[in-house]
This record gives sequence, C-alpha cells and structure tokens, in this order.
Amino acid sequence: MDNKEIASERKALIFNIQRYSTEDGPGVRTTVFFQGCPLRCLWCSNPESKQHKPQMLYFENTCTECYSCLKVCPNGANQKKDDGTVWVDRNLCQNCGACVEACPSNARSIAGRWMTVDEVYKIIDKDVIYYMNSDGGVTLGGGECTSQPEFVLELLDRCYQRGIHICLDTCGYAPWSILEKILQKVDLVLFDIKHLDPVKHKEFTGVDNRLILDNASKIRQMGKKIIIRLPLIPGYNDDEKNITAIGRFMKLWGLDSIDILPYHRLGVNKYHALGEEYMLENLPSLQKDNIKSKVKILESFGLKVNVV
Ligand code: SF4
Ligand code: SF4
Repeated sequence: MDNKEIASERKALIFNIQRYSTEDGPGVRTTVFFQGCPLRCLWCSNPESKQHKPQMLYFENTCTECYSCLKVCPNGANQKKDDGTVWVDRNLCQNCGACVEACPSNARSIAGRWMTVDEVYKIIDKDVIYYMNSDGGVTLGGGECTSQPEFVLELLDRCYQRGIHICLDTCGYAPWSILEKILQKVDLVLFDIKHLDPVKHKEFTGVDNRLILDNASKIRQMGKKIIIRLPLIPGYNDDEKNITAIGRFMKLWGLDSIDILPYHRLGVNKYHALGEEYMLENLPSLQKDNIKSKVKILESFGLKVNVV
C-alpha cells in the first residue's frame, strides 16, 4: 500500500479551518486554527482557542428560553433563573455538547474538534488550484500550532509533498528544538511580538518574552523569511518607547517587515458566551487612521510596514 493511502490516525484539536483566507499570508490561503495556547493575552480575540480542550459557548441573546438544554444536560449545568433566563454553571459543565444538539435556536456551539491529519488535509487539498493561481497556500495558526507538534509535522509533510506554500503563524513561545523541526518545511513565518519589556510582556500575556525574542533571532539566522506581527493595543503596547524598541530589535536582527494589527473588539461576545470576564471591556477599537505616528516610527528604522 502506498504511504499516501495509509490514513494517519494522529489527531489534533482544531477550532476552525478557514478557506479563502486573505489575511494570514500571501495569496488565497486555507488557515488551520489549532486549539490551545501557552499565552494569555488580555486582548485575545479568540478566547475559545486558549485551552487545550473543546469548550461550549452559550450566546444568551439568541436563547428563546425553551429549556431543552436543561432536560438533556447530564450534569445539571443549565439552570433556570428566577427571571426565566438560562444560566450555565461552568463548574458542572463537561463540554459534552448534548445541549448544542438539543438547542433549536443555535444559541450554543462547541469550539474544538479532534481531527485526523487526513481530515484536515482533505479540506486543504480542495483549494490547491486557488493557491497555485494566487501564490497562496496554507497557514497554520491558532491558538498556537506548535503546541501540537507531532500532528503539525505530519500535516506539513503532506503539504510539502504536494508543493503547497506553507506559512507558520506563531506566538513564538515554543522550545527551539520543536520550532526548528517544524521550520524545515515552512516557507514563511508570521511571528508575533507584543512587547519588548519582559515585565510588561508577562503582565499582559502571562509569560516572559525572552524565549520569544530569542526564537525570532534564531529564525532570522536560519535564513527563513519572517514577517513580525504586532497587535497594537492602545494603552498597553502602543507607547513610543515600546514601538521604538521593537524597531530597534528588528533592525538589529535584520528583520525588515512588520504587520500592524490594530486592536478590535470582535471577540468580546465570545468571552461572554464562555462565561469569562473580558479584561478590556471599556477599550474602544483602534481606527487605522490613528496609528500613523506608530507607522512613522517603525518606518524610520527602514522597515516595511503593513497595516492589516
Ligand atoms: S455541554 Fe454538556 S455538560 Fe455542558 S451544559 Fe451542555 S449538556 Fe451540559
Ligand atoms: S436549548 Fe437553546 S434556546 Fe432553549 S433554553 Fe437552552 S440555550 Fe436557550
């Protein structure tokens, strides 16, 4: 039997696969979002991607109070409040998905599905013609895809054999031994840098930035093409000192391209649906027109700046 015919049983937890994506690297791409991330960025717009487990989301504003979910829950996690609305006790919920099936109003969904390499590759393979015609390909993102390295390596093999352009979108917080293996078959790296100050980085993301910065410089030394990505969060990392420090760091390591991702609030509803508190509740979205001064600082270091 040909190797390609042997279906791999290795599975990864995936929370989304987006076809025809145009914001995760060049051309038309399929982006595979892996669930689970070692960082806890305060502004994360995909809160369902943080934990390495499926999670049930309950969108209260879509609920019609039919109470079907109360009947099917094996753990008594759904409860009717005195005013008739439904509340989920997250300490009891086991994310089994029974209420998702039972809900007639699509007020519930499960984020995260265990998928085999074959299942993911079959979706990727559907759009090869679009990748070829647009200089696009596949992007592995998340969450953090390097947290599920064995699966990523198998999937990369399949894409590589087919000649598909591969882009790795990473927070950079991974052991070098893992990153180095994955990078062998990656064409382009989208690499997040959030703050140059290690204390502030830890305060805003939960982890120190030294491993991340070290990995960025090692990737550059490998000769890999790398684009730095900066989520720009007003009041957190958009001060002149930090932007200048990022410009200097990039210049020092010969990194020449940076994408700025202005802060937006598209993920806020998902925090509520997961029963989690959103720490930046009162922070308005950042308009592209208001970041010209940051662009200028970065351009003064000779960097190519792109606002996504
Ligand atoms: S996901 Fe399962 S355990 Fe959680 S509320 Fe729904 S039915 Fe209950
Ligand atoms: S099944 Fe859906 S619509 Fe019915 S009470 Fe539960 S969440 Fe609301």
